[in-house]
Amino acid sequence: MSLLVVGSVAFDAVETPFGKRERMLGGSATHFSLAASFFTDVRVVGVVGGDFGEEEFAVFRERGIDTTDLEIVPGGRTFFWRGRYDFDLNTAHTLDTRLNVFADFKPKLSADSRRARLAFLGNIQPDLQVEVREQVAGAEFVALDTMNYWINTVPDAVWDAVRRVHVVIINDAEARQLAGEPILIKAARKILAAGPRALVIKRGEYGAALFTPEAYFATPAYPLESVFDPTGAGDTFAGGFMGYLAAHDSLDEATMRRAMIYGSVLASFNVEEFGTERVRRLTQDEINARFSEFKRMTNFEEIPFERAVRARR
Ligand code: AMP
Repeated sequence: MSLLVVGSVAFDAVETPFGKRERMLGGSATHFSLAASFFTDVRVVGVVGGDFGEEEFAVFRERGIDTTDLEIVPGGRTFFWRGRYDFDLNTAHTLDTRLNVFADFKPKLSADSRRARLAFLGNIQPDLQVEVREQVAGAEFVALDTMNYWINTVPDAVWDAVRRVHVVIINDAEARQLAGEPILIKAARKILAAGPRALVIKRGEYGAALFTPEAYFATPAYPLESVFDPTGAGDTFAGGFMGYLAAHDSLDEATMRRAMIYGSVLASFNVEEFGTERVRRLTQDEINARFSEFKRMTNFEEIPFERAVRARR
C-alpha cells in the first residue's frame, strides 16, 4: 500500500500579489506527502538541516507521514527557495535557490522504503531521482516531476531519469522545453516515446491533461474566486493523483482519470492560502464535496446532432 516520495523539504520565501511570507515550510516532498496522506501511508526521503525544527516536523506527524528516511544534518541548512508570482499566477519567478544540505545528499532508503509499491521522484536533482529509482527497483508504479531549473542545467540527466519511470508529471512549459517542441501534443509523444506509459501535463488555472499512447483525458481546474499562493500546487496535484492510485489495486485508465480529479481537488485547496496552511486543516468531507462538484462541472448530456438540427427547423 505504501507510497514513497523523494524531493525537496524546504523553507520558502514567497511573494504573490496578495501577500508575502519570509520563511514557511515548503518543498516538493512536503506538499506531495501532505496531499497523498489523505489516501495512503506515505514515507518521505530527503534531507533537512539543524534549522528544521519541531514545528516543521509536527506538520508531517499530524498527517501520519513517516519521516524515518528524512535525514537531519545538524550543522547544515535546509534547502531554501525564494520565488515571486506576478498577476499571472501560473508562472513562478525563481529569485534564489540554495541547495544547502541537498548538495551532498546521498539517499539511503530503509528496508521498508525499498518495498514501497508506488514511488514519486519529486522535483530535485535528477541524479538523486535516479539513485532512489534504483533502490525501489521492484516498485509497480513510479512517477517523476522536474522543473525548468534542471532542464536548463542538466537536460541529459533529466532524460535519463524520464526513461526509468512509468509516469511523468510536469507542467506544459516544462514539457515543451524538455522535448524542444512547441506543439504540446508532439512534445507529449516525444516524452512517451522515451518509455513512460503515461504523461500528466499540469496547466495551472487551466487544469491538467493525461496522455497515454492510446488515450487523452483532460480536466479543468476548480474555478476559485481567490488564489493566494500557487506554490506547491503541482506537487499537491501529484500527491492527490499518486495517493489515490496507491489506495487502489488496479492502475488502469479509469482509475487514473479519477486520480486526475483527486489531484485537481487537492491542488485547488492548496492555492487558497499560503504554503501548507490550507491543506494542513483540510478534511475528508471537504475533499468529497469538491470531488462531487468536479463531477457536476464536467458532466454533459450527449444529444445526437440530428436532434439538435431538427429542433432548429
Ligand atoms: P510547485 O509545486 O511546482 O509550485 O513547487 C513548489 C516547491 O518546489 C516549493 O515549495 C520549493 O521549495 C520547491 N522548489 C523550487 N525550486 C526547486 C528546485 N530547483 N529543486 C527542488 N525543489 C524546488
